[in-house]
Amino acid sequence: MNQNQILFDRASKTSPGGVNSPVRAFRSVGGTPRFIKRAQDAYFWDENDVRYIDYIGSWGPIIVGHAHPNVVKAVQEAAAKGLGFGTPTRAEVEMAELLCDMLPSLEQVRLVSSGTEATMSAIRLARGFTGRDVLVKFEGCYHGHSDSLLVKAGSGLLTLGNPSSAGVPVAVSKDTLVLPYNDVDALKTLFKDKGDTLAAVILEPIAGNMNFVRARPEFMRTLRELCTEYGTVLIIDEVMTGFRVGEQCAQGVYGVQADLTTLGKVIGGGMPVAAFGGRADIMAHMAPLGGVYQAGTLSGNPVAVAAGLATLNIVRQDGFFDNLRQKTTALLAGFSAAAHDAGVPFSTEMEGGMFGLFFSNQAPQSYAEVMASRVDLFPAFFHAMLDEGVYLAPSAFEAGFMSAAHTDEDIASTIAAARKAFAAISH
Ligand code: PLP
Repeated sequence: MNQNQILFDRASKTSPGGVNSPVRAFRSVGGTPRFIKRAQDAYFWDENDVRYIDYIGSWGPIIVGHAHPNVVKAVQEAAAKGLGFGTPTRAEVEMAELLCDMLPSLEQVRLVSSGTEATMSAIRLARGFTGRDVLVKFEGCYHGHSDSLLVKAGSGLLTLGNPSSAGVPVAVSKDTLVLPYNDVDALKTLFKDKGDTLAAVILEPIAGNMNFVRARPEFMRTLRELCTEYGTVLIIDEVMTGFRVGEQCAQGVYGVQADLTTLGKVIGGGMPVAAFGGRADIMAHMAPLGGVYQAGTLSGNPVAVAAGLATLNIVRQDGFFDNLRQKTTALLAGFSAAAHDAGVPFSTEMEGGMFGLFFSNQAPQSYAEVMASRVDLFPAFFHAMLDEGVYLAPSAFEAGFMSAAHTDEDIASTIAAARKAFAAISH
């Protein structure tokens, strides 16, 4: 009996589409979602007891590998002391200090429970701080599912073929302007015309929700300069890239500092922790000090924060990212050689422990270029990999994630699987 199928049939009766987050439903690749029952290191096992080498890592957080003993111990110890108090705790202070220490642009942070809350709150803060309404985002960037951000977004919306959501009032979306990613001229023109009405610009510095598209350095530099010149708050959304692409997140990679940064995923180590923070003069506008309201029953939850602290304490060890980069580099070199030998158009991108695989001869630099790649080849490739015990994100528009727990053998078997998968789709 196929337990995945049995569970999916049951789930589909009581949950829309049988899932609690759309991309999990395998809609764009077809087939039955795998129901995972346990995970360890670089692997997880489905309800049929089939093992997979995991390259989604819970969509980014699991950077030290599944069920790392330090993280599990920290969670168990915290849980034994109580699951939540709704009061300040020592662990939250330690977490805030650690984040401000690790990322130079953070002078103050507030902890929340999801990336969506972090971006939504950062935008409210930017509007409250500037007294302006208009928000600028970029095509194909996903910043969570709050109303004003579900306009030409990426991730699940792209996977389902519709980058904007029903149910978002026109009145809300009219204050969100969308520009093409990496288009310096469009940026300059917009600021020239409307710069002093713009509350904030939000971007994914490496867009992982339309596969993997990195901002050009000139684009980042121009954005920083224009935001400073016009008093617009630059929000760098590092929910995915934060402590995933390098020691100081994408801001370290580019040498550009945000006014506000949003974090999530890795900082919770698999548990619901996210944060927004940045310049102290902006953060001073948050309640209870200032007039911008934001709150959360579970914000800074002690068990979740314990998982995050334990994870970050591993991530900040010397050599962590060198090791991770080597693993990602080796994986991608193997993929590229395999695709080349099979005659499949293919390119890759990576930074730290995050990577993109494209069915195109050159890595895309914009949403339009991503859409022009052979995304039609992805479903067969995905299933061929799955049949070989390798779990990639079930969408051509999502980044992949390496963890410190992936061994050389795991990488070699993934490449061997890719050889078979490329050969299968090249016929
Ligand atoms: N921002 C970015 C860049 C993301 O990748 C995501 C989620 O994938 C979010 C925000 C939303 O985070 P969450 O799913 O925790 O609400």
